[in-house]
Amino acid sequence: MISLKDVMDARERISEIAYETPILQSEQLSKLCGNQLYMKSEHLQKTGSFKIRGASNKVIHAIENGAKYVTTASSGNHGQAVAYVANKYGVPVTIVVPENVSMCKVNAIQAYNGKIEKCGTTSGERLPRAQEIAVQESGVYIPPYDDPFVMAGQGTVGLEILEQAENVDVIIVPVGGGGLLSGILTAVKESNPKVKVIGVEPELANDTYLSLQNKRITTIPATSTIADGLRTNQPGDLTFPVLMKYLDDLVLVSEEEIRQAFSFVLERTKQFIEPSSATTIAAALFNKLNFEGKNVVTVISGGNVDLDSVHQLIVSTTE
Ligand SMILES: *Cc1c(COP(=O)(O)O)cnc(C)c1O
Repeated sequence: MISLKDVMDARERISEIAYETPILQSEQLSKLCGNQLYMKSEHLQKTGSFKIRGASNKVIHAIENGAKYVTTASSGNHGQAVAYVANKYGVPVTIVVPENVSMCKVNAIQAYNGKIEKCGTTSGERLPRAQEIAVQESGVYIPPYDDPFVMAGQGTVGLEILEQAENVDVIIVPVGGGGLLSGILTAVKESNPKVKVIGVEPELANDTYLSLQNKRITTIPATSTIADGLRTNQPGDLTFPVLMKYLDDLVLVSEEEIRQAFSFVLERTKQFIEPSSATTIAAALFNKLNFEGKNVVTVISGGNVDLDSVHQLIVSTTE
């Protein structure tokens, strides 16, 4: 398991790359949910999501240990983050993407000089290919969440929250593979265990919810939730034990609640966030928390939305 020291080392290592993002406050959303609501704004992070934190911690460590090449198998936020960091350090990078990848994702990766290789349609096909290229090129494969350096990098979000919101009572974190949540749990529970940490998943991607209930890693079939950053179908071997040890609660939100939260945030706060992040606001707005009057920091994990799909996210917000 990673420790607070690993997260503090990560913060040092990535300080030249990742921004310290602002915490925004919304009176309107606070009123609606009965708690003081704050947003840790990783949608304003470089490359548009927190993924730059874990990716840079892992890539920089790999380069320091002689890596001359990096690869990964994600076309989403993690792929963009890895391409950005590799480019920044002048290391060649290949991102293995599905055959049906959207052009906007390809463009984002190519803008950072990432090389694209198309392979199959499932992660079961892409992942071995990315690992194979890493071996052939004497490089390193950068996992999206199940890696100590990636987890520690994501945990730096937690250190910043503790400093920026000294009176925080509760932190709400979206859960895909659990890299972000396990990092934040380590940073927060090993600094100030009184702060509660709550995870959120879409009902359609409730693999971690089921795993916690069953007390062992449980896999669900492929899912199509609009929260595309949370479609992972099982928690990681390294992330899950951290959740078992420290997590206070995990709540579920529906697709409609995610759309409502996205629309509320856009309309009331003018912030453009992605559906994966809107899950945390949905948890606060739709009575998933059984407390009131607390200082609640929601982790807004990213802001990358394919503009072609925005119309599917906007719904009426009249109460
Ligand atoms: C990857 C991602 C998540 C989930 O992070 P995990 O570490 O996989 O749990 C949440 N939100 C956004 C925007 C992401 O890109």
